[in-house]
Amino acid sequence: MKRVTERNRAFFKRAREVMPYGVSSNFRIVGGGREIPVARAEGAYLWDFDENRYIDYQNGFGPTILGYGHPVVCDRVAEAIRHGTVFAMTHEYEVRVAERIIAMCPGVEMVRFANSGAEATMHALRLARAHTGREKILKFEGAYHGMYDYVMWSTATCPTAAMGYYRSPNPVASSSGIPNALRELILCLPFNDPETLERTVKAKWGDIAGIIVEPVLGNLGGTLPEPGFLELIRSLCDEYGIVMIMDEVKTGFRLAPGGAQEFFGVVGDLATYAKALGNGFPIAAIGGKRELMMGYNMGQTAHAGTYCGNICGTAAADATLEILATGKPYQIIDARGKALVDGISRILDAEGVPYHIMGVPHLFGIAFSDEKPYDARSWAKADDERYEAIMMKLIDRGAMPCPDDGEPWFLSAALSEQDVADTLTWFEEAVKETLAG
Ligand code: PMP
Repeated sequence: MKRVTERNRAFFKRAREVMPYGVSSNFRIVGGGREIPVARAEGAYLWDFDENRYIDYQNGFGPTILGYGHPVVCDRVAEAIRHGTVFAMTHEYEVRVAERIIAMCPGVEMVRFANSGAEATMHALRLARAHTGREKILKFEGAYHGMYDYVMWSTATCPTAAMGYYRSPNPVASSSGIPNALRELILCLPFNDPETLERTVKAKWGDIAGIIVEPVLGNLGGTLPEPGFLELIRSLCDEYGIVMIMDEVKTGFRLAPGGAQEFFGVVGDLATYAKALGNGFPIAAIGGKRELMMGYNMGQTAHAGTYCGNICGTAAADATLEILATGKPYQIIDARGKALVDGISRILDAEGVPYHIMGVPHLFGIAFSDEKPYDARSWAKADDERYEAIMMKLIDRGAMPCPDDGEPWFLSAALSEQDVADTLTWFEEAVKETLAG
């Protein structure tokens, strides 16, 4: 089956004329003439310019948890924006969404809004630095916190060989153009390595303002924290007066109504949200302890943005959280996710391929490796070429996870049982065809 066809190609040629590589984000570059532009979407499906339909497992890298064009979300936004979209004053939707987030998310006592995940984590880092009077931020290798210079170090696209020995790792810049001076402000440690974490914090705590952690590594196929690892971060932060920032941009409102903080029972001092919060509308939030959040004040810690708390994003979040708080979408996603993971495991077992299912059914990955990955270095040993080959064949047949093995499958509550059954049929064909070479 060949899916990339004439109108797609013509459209993408037009896109490439006016946007570098035809995309608005480097993460969307597929290359090799294999790009599939999207013409429209509804529920669990996307259509390209040649009217091919795909069951979508990318969901825009995570946001559309209720499916595309959800009528309740769209109607609430459409109604709200008739009465203005952005104000220089506080309005009802902001307060409603803040109240909903506080009710749903453990540890969140107050909320400020932003427009993207990057903006939210950037504001959280500033608050941590201001609160502690220290400057360094500790992050984990393979974790992603946004497209800005303070955190673009040792992310999943960096070569792990350049990260050095795991007991004394080097931060690796994730891009050209990142000032080398910022290396002084970042510590990058292997995930799930309690010994290195404890030793580093005990030696350097006087410089460390915050530890920012992605509770599930969303660019390493959904690598989970080993039991006790998040708890260790929590206790070290308590002992040494470090601000613990749970970056819930991918996990928030997805793993559970209260995100990873509810799912793992570990609460940060601050948490950052975006993606599923607005079901695809641009909105983000920083939440956390009242004592810290009250630092966002004139003459203290700066937080602002013309579009922070705008009507479009907050009206979308108001409807999205109202639906998510019922718990029903999670039951559907859980059932579909389990069916998919069970089916995928059955197919791969039958073929005798070494593999590991990563993450949880709401957000899962597949690592083609002998050893189960637990950090960026072990993840790098997985066979990403085999993964990509299978995914491209699956996409040709009509189901679309990201072809990059680091990016998990994101499920939406719009998926039907038939969608799962079709995906598994095509997955089996794609695996067999790939292995036959
Ligand atoms: N943090 C995490 C954990 C993320 O996954 C992302 C985006 N993938 C971000 C922050 C940045 O969010 P945004 O792309 O909305 O800036």
